Amino acid sequence: MIKASIYELFFPTRCAGCGVSSGRFLCPECNSVFPLINGPACLRCGKPTIYEVEDCLECRDRIRYLDRTAALAVYEEPMRAAIHKLKYGNGWRLARPLGAMAGVRLAPLLQSSKPVVTFVPMNKRKRRARGYDHAEKLAENIAMSLGLSSARLLLRIRATKAQAGLSHKARRQNVRGAFELVGEPLSGQDIILVDDILTTGYTLSECAGVLKKGGAGEVIACVLARDLISGGPALPSAGQNHPLRGQ
Ligand SMILES: [Zn+2]
Ligand SMILES: [Zn+2]
Repeated sequence: MIKASIYELFFPTRCAGCGVSSGRFLCPECNSVFPLINGPACLRCGKPTIYEVEDCLECRDRIRYLDRTAALAVYEEPMRAAIHKLKYGNGWRLARPLGAMAGVRLAPLLQSSKPVVTFVPMNKRKRRARGYDHAEKLAENIAMSLGLSSARLLLRIRATKAQAGLSHKARRQNVRGAFELVGEPLSGQDIILVDDILTTGYTLSECAGVLKKGGAGEVIACVLARDLISGGPALPSAGQNHPLRGQ
């Protein structure tokens, strides 16, 4: 305890959002505006919706292999700053509080008792340069918070361009065939697939496809942030049951 407070004196905990020395993971100001997704969301892609839907116009036909997505927050400040800190300059310590929070969001979506937690891996060169893989750190901490086991199940077998700035078609092609399964076939094992952000979902869906071809059962994505590329809440399709319809 004393050791911890001396450490805090010399290396004060800085707020993951604004960087002030607050002694907490988030200062009260950043905590009060943290863009958590607490309400209903699209079950497939995690986008906030007016009421819960199985899929939405943004993810239908695009995210083919993910069964569910748990997204902790919308990709806005201060979550945006927290993810940046997690990824760069030895910010892996943030994986613990962020992973615990994501675990809380994920828990209600879990249907099987013992899914294995894995992650979307970086390529080897990038990992060496950065010293750690932030998605791996997140996966370990999410697993720990829920009493599950974590494992590396995927390998990035070729470098890909950053998805940001690419067209939808280019994003899909960019990640196609970029991952392979590591180790034994999965024989029906349910999987939690962790990454920092879901934007179009092409990368996560590609990884989920590899896991399913390798024998995985249900694949649930767990991400820190859902980037709302087209803005506004997702609307359910005409074919979907509206809770007020038929009353
Ligand atoms: Zn702050
Ligand atoms: Zn959706």
